[in-house]
Amino acid sequence: MEKYDVIIVGSGVAGLFCALSLPREKNILVISKDALDGCDSFLAQGGICMLRDEDDYDAYFEDTMRAGHYENRVESVEIMIRSSQDIINDLEGYGVEFEKKNGEFVFTKEGAHSNNRILFHEDVTGREITSKLLARAQERENITLMAHTTMVDWVCKDNVCYGIVVADMDGKTTAIQGDVTVLACGGLGGVYPHSTNYRHISGDALALAMYHNVRLENCDYVQIHPTTLYSNQSGRSFLISESVRGEGAVLRNKAGERFTDELQPRDVVSKAIFAQMEKDGTEHVWLDFSPIPREEILNHFPNIYARCKQAGYDPLETWVPVVPAQHYFMGGIYVDKDSKTTMEQLYAVGETSCNGVHGRNRLASNSLLESLVFAKRAAHDIANTKCFKTTDDFDNLVNVDGYEDLPSIMENYHAMVVGEIKKEETLRAKKEAI
Ligand SMILES: Cc1cc2nc3c(=O)[nH]c(=O)nc-3n(C[C@H](O)[C@H](O)[C@H](O)COP(=O)(O)OP(=O)(O)OC[C@H]3O[C@@H](n4cnc5c(N)ncnc54)[C@H](O)[C@@H]3O)c2cc1C
Repeated sequence: MEKYDVIIVGSGVAGLFCALSLPREKNILVISKDALDGCDSFLAQGGICMLRDEDDYDAYFEDTMRAGHYENRVESVEIMIRSSQDIINDLEGYGVEFEKKNGEFVFTKEGAHSNNRILFHEDVTGREITSKLLARAQERENITLMAHTTMVDWVCKDNVCYGIVVADMDGKTTAIQGDVTVLACGGLGGVYPHSTNYRHISGDALALAMYHNVRLENCDYVQIHPTTLYSNQSGRSFLISESVRGEGAVLRNKAGERFTDELQPRDVVSKAIFAQMEKDGTEHVWLDFSPIPREEILNHFPNIYARCKQAGYDPLETWVPVVPAQHYFMGGIYVDKDSKTTMEQLYAVGETSCNGVHGRNRLASNSLLESLVFAKRAAHDIANTKCFKTTDDFDNLVNVDGYEDLPSIMENYHAMVVGEIKKEETLRAKKEAI
């Protein structure tokens, strides 16, 4: 039986940053259901927020709260904003490069931000950050990285987590013991037919939380991104970052008219697009890049430009068809400010967790930051924990032969997640009607 000090489930920004922030004497395992770079963190385009200076604090706080419909946990928002400069320092220390001019950061803007406070690396900020974190993790002798390894269950008793059960690519299951388990499994886009997320990121940890009575929060708070490239083919939807609208692109209806303020919060813009599509009887609206200078399109958005062109729409020449799609999960496994779940020795970080930063709706470019801030807090809390509960009976706590039919287990988890979202939606609608 394998044994680690810390098991981290997920190799996105949250999982990797947690691993790198733990002391080097900890023996750490990081697993990923897919390839190590098969995570949404690699797909992030727009950027990552940073508090520029004290003068921007109140505005940044207010923008985050307003986007979240004031349902955010105030303490979490304060922690995130106050930690942002340290986190960017850490990232630069790991080799991450952000756009600079004369040695100074260049800041861009996205919807619902009242100031330019977003750092970026072309339109592949997530790839820049996550590939550097992965490279650093691969260099560390105390971190073992295991791809194509799926967590199928937790090994727990009396509300204490002692490890996980994993399945490899051949479906062989093993129990792995850990003093602490950190869930960094991303969102739940895989349960939606149209999503910007990888298909395998499908809320598995949420299903396990339901199964083992770990507290969840706001499972119906699912963000729909207003602008993904319209396509009638199945598969992951390609995102057209909000920073394209932040830099001036406008939305147009069938008649070529502008129909909404493009820089309102995402939920508001998505609603306006759906209403326009219904009115026009169309399957998409149009995004007009022409207000953005040609050089800006080519230099700031080279990948978005290339992808649109590949689909037959040259943003320098023509409008691009766009449609909203599932994008982000604001709810998740309830955690406190140190990313602890309601089960002992079990933490959750990144999109899987709900620390309340985003409230009802996430402000653009806050999620990479939130993932990093609270992953580091989890690491510090683990490092400062003097002793962990252990069990002499680990092998008898779970029967690893009970997971042979992996596809139906996963299908069952998906159904549980979808059911929970629907249940919460119905309950909230009833409450709001009263
Ligand atoms: C297209 C796109 C663009 C975005 N742009 C931005 C942006 O500009 N700025 C911003 O702040 N945010 C952006 N986001 C959101 C942001 O990228 C994510 O919220 C963030 O990266 C989540 O990181 P994470 O580490 O929590 O999860 P992920 O990066 O999604 O990683 C999840 C990991 O968990 C693993 N996993 C899942 N289930 C299991 C299981 N059962 N067993 C084992 N492993 C499992 C996966 O394989 C993966 O390794 C964007 C998201 C998308 C999809």
